Amino acid sequence: MKHLLFTLLTAGLFLTMSSSYRGNDLFQVISSHPHDLEEMNPYIETVHQSGRLWIVQLKKEAPEAIMDSLRPLSGSEKHYLYEGMFISNKSKKNKINIKSYTSEVKVENLRKDIEELAAYETRFVGTPENQQVLESTAIRLQEMGYAIQEHCYRGEVCSVIAEKKGKEKTKDIIMVMGHIDSVGESFAGADDNASGTAVLLEMARILKDYDNKKTIRFFITNGEEAGLIGSSHYARKLETTGEIKNIKLALNMDMVGYNSNGIVELETSPDHEHLARSMADLASRFTTLKTKITLGAWGSDHMPFLSRGVPALLTIEDWDTKNPCYHQECDSPDLINLDYVAEIAKLNISAVLAKDLDLQD
Ligand SMILES: [Zn+2]
Repeated sequence: MKHLLFTLLTAGLFLTMSSSYRGNDLFQVISSHPHDLEEMNPYIETVHQSGRLWIVQLKKEAPEAIMDSLRPLSGSEKHYLYEGMFISNKSKKNKINIKSYTSEVKVENLRKDIEELAAYETRFVGTPENQQVLESTAIRLQEMGYAIQEHCYRGEVCSVIAEKKGKEKTKDIIMVMGHIDSVGESFAGADDNASGTAVLLEMARILKDYDNKKTIRFFITNGEEAGLIGSSHYARKLETTGEIKNIKLALNMDMVGYNSNGIVELETSPDHEHLARSMADLASRFTTLKTKITLGAWGSDHMPFLSRGVPALLTIEDWDTKNPCYHQECDSPDLINLDYVAEIAKLNISAVLAKDLDLQD
């Protein structure tokens, strides 16, 4: 930027704002040029500063030229972040406190769901038990009030979609997914991926009464272990109908249950580095998790969406210290760190809310 302000001030052109006083209006500082900041300083009051976000109000005597370095926050943009609370404007009606949602995560719910899912002899795709667990999960989501659809590939591999339409006219969709199938070891698959499925169910429970602007879609994928079958089929279908461009965020949760160091990996493609960074920011605000960003994605249901240009991200336990029982019969609930699972749930809930409120790119 722009030496305009500096030039005007040094030329003595003080255009005061007395006739257009902006009262309590909020502005974002959109310059970091030292000249601008120096000249602006006497005329602003800082309301909030965090990272690159600097929100100010103007003093009465502020010159009009100062507007070159400021962006007015208005309408839906009139919001700012502090202390984990996001205020969309000053009326209580629109106040969204993300922490009031993340604090609803209940370890006991996660424990119950992980144990129930791992109690099936197998959840391998194509088995009667796989169909059974899928149906009972679909019923759970339906009872929460979500509209349910089944998507089947060759009549054999069925996935479940549970949707809550957004209240605004936008076609935007926020998708949350996790695979329900297992590799088929007896009474196993607690971490892979009863953990992700349990988080999805807990998120659905907590967000069922949330007044979402964008459509929220929960996607219980199936056949992940047999080659990403359910997610690939569904992504292809959405590509054919053109709907895939409406998916503004796809969160995948796979193996989010075994951990001792508090690290979660945030995995996406290099194209979506900003998404990983904003997730890391949410993790620092709303969870106790430490984050490891992995650019270069592989091996789970976010892939078919990433390859079609959807901003998709996987949360997964730190792969350096991953479950020693990965894909084995000993992948059982007793190895699950439920407090860690709860933090993953908080992270993904905060990401859905941040996206719904346009806090994330
Ligand atoms: Zn898995």
